[in-house]
Amino acid sequence: MIKIVVATLLWTFVVALSVGVPVFAASHSKMHIEWSDEEFAAELKSSEVFQDAVDFINDTFRFERPLVLQLGADDGPLYDPQKDVIQMPYEFYQQVITLFAQLEPDDEVIQKEYAVDTLLHTLFHEYGHAVIDQFDIPVLGREEDAVDGLASVLLIEYYDNGAEMAINAAELFALESDDRGSLQEEDFWDEHSLDEQRYYSTLCHVVGSDPEQYGELAESAGISEERAESCIFEYQQLVDDWDKLLAPARK
Ligand SMILES: [Zn+2]
Repeated sequence: MIKIVVATLLWTFVVALSVGVPVFAASHSKMHIEWSDEEFAAELKSSEVFQDAVDFINDTFRFERPLVLQLGADDGPLYDPQKDVIQMPYEFYQQVITLFAQLEPDDEVIQKEYAVDTLLHTLFHEYGHAVIDQFDIPVLGREEDAVDGLASVLLIEYYDNGAEMAINAAELFALESDDRGSLQEEDFWDEHSLDEQRYYSTLCHVVGSDPEQYGELAESAGISEERAESCIFEYQQLVDDWDKLLAPARK
């Protein structure tokens, strides 16, 4: 499922290995999963999607301190810097399925597939908060936007069907905005961008990553040709900047 060859990218951990990274420089801290809810575990543990994602993160990045992913947590989704924990509650998975049921009312398998894609986007988003915290990575602008961008990049660049997964994550933002109703003051001072903006930003990343493949998607979403064009540069900048910023965290 995870791309082995990422030839087009500057994510040069392979090169780093080939030139010889001193073994003593590597931290032995890792990310691991705590399955704290039986129901959640039964549903998702067998798919190995989360274990694969955590293995990918551990294979690619190092950690200053061990990071726990609690699947079936009481709260979240969130990253708790005090405890070095990413919390992902089972309720969130259920909420996401309920929202996708509006799109695909007759297909529970698809609802769950889309929900898992979205949870992976969320996992990479929360990992973004963790890596920024552990390695003091500078962030200009909203950190929430920055880690949304990282989630897009990790999905699109490392997963075979990552662009489709990112589209499903974008779709959730659209469904959440429909669900929210009219905008309130709090939506404007929230640390996150508006759901509508997160929807279009994520689509812009997908379109920018492969304009030929996803040009029609931009058009059907109402994104202008000019904006779709700028998404190409925006996405490339996102990839290049994260490549530079993640250097201290990369194996
Ligand atoms: Zn966040």
